[in-house]
Amino acid sequence: MSAPYPWLETPWQRLLATRARPAQALLLAGPRGVGKGALARAWAQALLCEAPQPDGAACGECPACHWYETDTHPDFRLLTLQEKTGKEGETRMATAIEVDQAREAVDFVQLSTYRAGFRMVLVDPADSLNVAAANALLKVLEEPPLNTVFVLVSDQPRRLLPTIRSRCSRIDIGLPPADQAAQWLAGQGVDDAANLLALSGGTPLDAQRWADGAELDERRGVLEGLALLDRLDPVTLGERWKAVSPQTWHNVAYKWLGDLLAVKLRGSVQFNRDFAEALTQLGNQADLAKLLALARTQANEGRTLAHPLNRALQLEAWLIQYRHVFD
Ligand SMILES: [Zn+2]
Repeated sequence: MSAPYPWLETPWQRLLATRARPAQALLLAGPRGVGKGALARAWAQALLCEAPQPDGAACGECPACHWYETDTHPDFRLLTLQEKTGKEGETRMATAIEVDQAREAVDFVQLSTYRAGFRMVLVDPADSLNVAAANALLKVLEEPPLNTVFVLVSDQPRRLLPTIRSRCSRIDIGLPPADQAAQWLAGQGVDDAANLLALSGGTPLDAQRWADGAELDERRGVLEGLALLDRLDPVTLGERWKAVSPQTWHNVAYKWLGDLLAVKLRGSVQFNRDFAEALTQLGNQADLAKLLALARTQANEGRTLAHPLNRALQLEAWLIQYRHVFD
């Protein structure tokens, strides 16, 4: 079996070479949208497989592979952000991996394994562990039980507790070379690979998501609002945009501000080339200090993306601040 994505071949081979004695605590770090999660999952299957291929990759046919592929392998646990149901029945994603999830994983690794092989706990995104959860995990990371492997996946490894980071062997995954990413996207049937890669800051999986359509329409809707400054009505736009997923909205607005800064500082547009004209005009009009302040707020907010109680009101406040940039 080859790597989940062609640009991951080197780290994949590096992992397979350790299959007989895998690192018991491993950190896969790198920017979002490069396939770290897919790599971690392929590695989990390779470790759990009971009839691995000569290179160490999973066979895809044994009972263990079958269980893994149907999310029922008894020696595998995934620690991730869970959906929560609020008072009014609305669902939202939790903003942190909670301590009870970590404790459940700690209990899990104290039991004997169901099968004779390895057991794995995958933590993705590991930077979402809250402090209590991280501390609970730390104890077992320091002395992992026999045949137990922890894999932590993170876009922001600096946000992990230093004591956790120092326990892990680390593999850094970088952005793939642009031509390799473009070639892969073309192979997936994406027409506009170069433009979409620019839009996604070079991350092929984000570019693919853009190409899938719905988000691209949402993006256009948001950008058209941001571009028409003299008709920008924060209340109307806040109401309209509250349906856009916070992640998509954040990415779109963040790159828009990045482009305004790029126009201001370098005279060119980096991400949204299809809006170059509007960006050039607005960028020249913007107050640099106010723009920097807004971009900084935006960068910080990206770390805690969740549906707040009143999304429309939050967007409205943002838009008022945005309008002030051009006063
Ligand atoms: Zn197998």
